[in-house]
Amino acid sequence: MNADSNRATVNLIVIHHNAGTSDENARRTWYKSTGIGTSAHYQVTPTDIWGCVGENYVAYHAGDYGVNQRSIGIEHLNSTGARSWQIAEETYKNSAKLIADLCRRYKLPIDRKHIVGHREIVATACPGGIDIDKLIRMAQEVANGAVKETKVEKKEVVDMFTISAKDRGIALMTGGVFYSLLDAKDPENFWNQGVPHIQVSPKTFDNFQTKSNVDKLDDETVNKLIAGLKK
Ligand SMILES: [Zn+2]
Repeated sequence: MNADSNRATVNLIVIHHNAGTSDENARRTWYKSTGIGTSAHYQVTPTDIWGCVGENYVAYHAGDYGVNQRSIGIEHLNSTGARSWQIAEETYKNSAKLIADLCRRYKLPIDRKHIVGHREIVATACPGGIDIDKLIRMAQEVANGAVKETKVEKKEVVDMFTISAKDRGIALMTGGVFYSLLDAKDPENFWNQGVPHIQVSPKTFDNFQTKSNVDKLDDETVNKLIAGLKK
């Protein structure tokens, strides 16, 4: 994940939308290896709260480094496309739980001053059609006990995906390192654990291969990586 440890005291939550309706595509954007250079701490969907960048690290979401240093960035999966860019009611509920949890831990009031939309920091269409006042209201309800279910289950995103290209075969990318997958059974082992697969152009494949440490996966490494995913 794109991040650094030059963190300041956290006193702000910044709300974003994916500008997209694919959860996998959104999270993939934040891997170092894509070279895009953005990231967020959380990705919220109707079913999941993904912990992407650790809260102790600076994520690159606000378009302003000073703000990034002191904020938590929460991304939301859209349920509709352009131009309405809505999010699902279940996503509001999950996000409200997450925000209530964050505000409790960082001792932040759940209000409009501490929870802002991306467009309040820089000129952007983000966070689309997300109603921040509604989100704050729902987070307040969680915090004051009006909503009973306050348990926040977070899943950790593993910075890992497989790639393939025409005339190139299959490789695994993890932590910016390129591994050739030579054994035909290996990719399936990873896919069975939910590791996404991306079809790329031969040129992109070659870029991944040259800019990273070229390595091969032996059985021991495969087993270790898969064991890590099962946690
Ligand atoms: Zn944004």
